[in-house]
Amino acid sequence: MEYYLKNIDNGSILENLKNSIVKEELKVYYQPRINILNESIIGMEALLRWNNISPSKVIALAEQSNLIYEISDYVTKIACEETSLWNLKKGKNLILSVNISAKQFENRNFIFWLTDILYETGFNPEQLEIEITENIAVRNIERTVEILRELKALGIKIALDDFGTGYSSFKYLNKLPIDIIKIDKSFVDGITLDKKQEIIVSKIIEMAHCLNLKVIAEGVELFEQFQMLKKLNCDEAQGFYFSKPLRSSEFEKLII
Ligand code: C2E
Ligand code: CA
Ligand code: CA
Repeated sequence: MEYYLKNIDNGSILENLKNSIVKEELKVYYQPRINILNESIIGMEALLRWNNISPSKVIALAEQSNLIYEISDYVTKIACEETSLWNLKKGKNLILSVNISAKQFENRNFIFWLTDILYETGFNPEQLEIEITENIAVRNIERTVEILRELKALGIKIALDDFGTGYSSFKYLNKLPIDIIKIDKSFVDGITLDKKQEIIVSKIIEMAHCLNLKVIAEGVELFEQFQMLKKLNCDEAQGFYFSKPLRSSEFEKLII
């Protein structure tokens, strides 16, 4: 019975979601990415917001149907358009990161879809980063490498999201043509409280730098965590310590 009810619930959420896309009610929020050395905003991650429902839940539901393509289309187009506008208005070179879900990444038209959006919005591929989780990346490693190489050839950067939480993180690091790793919040949380956690993060950063990868720490909430990440030579940070994800009008005020 509970399962049945749960499905009805999800079914009606999906129906509402579909209508919201048509009515353009989905929102794109932006969370700044901070250069740890000089504390400037390098760019931002685009994050979906819809009706106070957790974005992870919305994405998981949308992945069960073709809605995921419409949502990603919507989010990516708006994010490219707004970033272009801010770069133009404020004379910046902000880097935009966009999350890519499993179904999208595995679709054979993924590259065509992305190049189409870049063309339509006139967005410079050198200023785009896509984020895929390690779990997505390792599902079919040969194909992942092929796609990532194509993206790189276009000038697009690739970040491995939620680093450290998936499977086989280290095994494939030398194979994947990525540019950035995003250290998951769960590593950052204990960084100032637990010496072992500090050592792990420190070694991840060291290893990434030896492999010519940039490191972003996610979920930085406290000044002490930021100071520690600075000491450990982490490149960038994202988190509530600087700013929560913001609606576009609020985010724009942060760019000076
Ligand atoms: P993610 O890609 O790992 O995004 C980071 C999440 O951490 C965001 O949650 C952000 O609001 C949250 N966060 C950032 N800083 C802090 C902090 O200091 N403390 C805490 N507690 N949380 C922080 P959000 O926005 O709820 O998104 C959850 C997930 O949903 C994302 O995780 C991503 O996997 C997915 N998602 C969101 N938007 C999109 C989208 O447009 N497309 C796809 N495919 N997935 C998306
Ligand atoms: Ca992400
Ligand atoms: Ca993440």
